[in-house]
Amino acid sequence: MHDVPATAHQVPVVVDDTHRAHDPAYELNAGREVRPRPERPVRVDAIHEALAAAGHPLLPARHFDDQALLAVHHPGMVAFLRDGYDAWRAAGGPEVMLPDTFASPRWARGGRISASPLGALGWWCFDTATPLVAGSYAAGRAAVDIALTGAELVAAGRPVVYGLTRPPGHHAGPDYFGGFCLFNHAAVAARSLTAGGRVAVLDIDVHHGNGTQDVFWEDDQVLYVSLHGDPDHLFPFFSGFSDERGGSAGRDTTRNLPLGSGTGDVAYLDALRVACELIEAFDPATLVVSLGLDASEHDPLGSLALTRDGYAGAGAMITALDRPTLLLQEGGYAVDHLGQLATTVLGPFADRTAPRRGGH
Ligand SMILES: [Zn+2]
Repeated sequence: MHDVPATAHQVPVVVDDTHRAHDPAYELNAGREVRPRPERPVRVDAIHEALAAAGHPLLPARHFDDQALLAVHHPGMVAFLRDGYDAWRAAGGPEVMLPDTFASPRWARGGRISASPLGALGWWCFDTATPLVAGSYAAGRAAVDIALTGAELVAAGRPVVYGLTRPPGHHAGPDYFGGFCLFNHAAVAARSLTAGGRVAVLDIDVHHGNGTQDVFWEDDQVLYVSLHGDPDHLFPFFSGFSDERGGSAGRDTTRNLPLGSGTGDVAYLDALRVACELIEAFDPATLVVSLGLDASEHDPLGSLALTRDGYAGAGAMITALDRPTLLLQEGGYAVDHLGQLATTVLGPFADRTAPRRGGH
């Protein structure tokens, strides 16, 4: 367990530099080669510098074994992300590993995972915006360690912890990855936190967290609530509609609040108020926030128009839920604004830093 100084007005920030190893030179997006990729290490640098300058203490992530990871992801997917790149290179693949054939469920009826690295990639990966390079597995795995380190601190009594996770995770599902995401660190943390009671995951990334929704679709111990741009017009296109509300035992523990293009602060905060009421009614022991900063008016990949004031309002509203809270970084690509937005969201939490349940 880390020894966190109990200084007032600060939120512990869990960091790990391993993410730098995941920096593919390009991706393919909407028919174009995109270089540099929007999802790149400088995103973390911007947030890291701003939070350190604001006096939030930085903590190193500690390493966890695969148990919590495998409680969310298929072992074959974990093994593929660990070993697939080396197999690809051994078979003559170029430095940037991208799929070209996707196993649509409408025709890949045999469920056979190809022996070819290229074929296997099209089984586990769902898009062309998530290339792999030699350091991708280590980076994705380190983000899981950041999330679990944060979860451990919150479970030990820290009222709020922020994990500076990269790459993002919420598009990665039980047995697939994509949308810049490798492992779903928020889902791994949330599932581990269910040891202490019910957990709510509030996802305010501008894109729907299809992966998190899938992980907890039938789970009545985890409420998943997402605010996002209307998926009819925004990635991930095929999920995040308001009639998706969970299945079997998890019926009504998934709630989606899609928002029209250009939605600004007032309508956004109205929707967030609805999300917070759903969380209050669920009465979770712990809250996990998938903190995307790509609902910003400045974001090049988003469809909404939140200002800095909007983010301040969101931070205040989430703080007012008054639950032990783990914030995990998801998207956010307006690099010049990320630091300011992150410090703005963390601001209202800063008064809540006294340990409450047996912390040190
Ligand atoms: Zn996003």
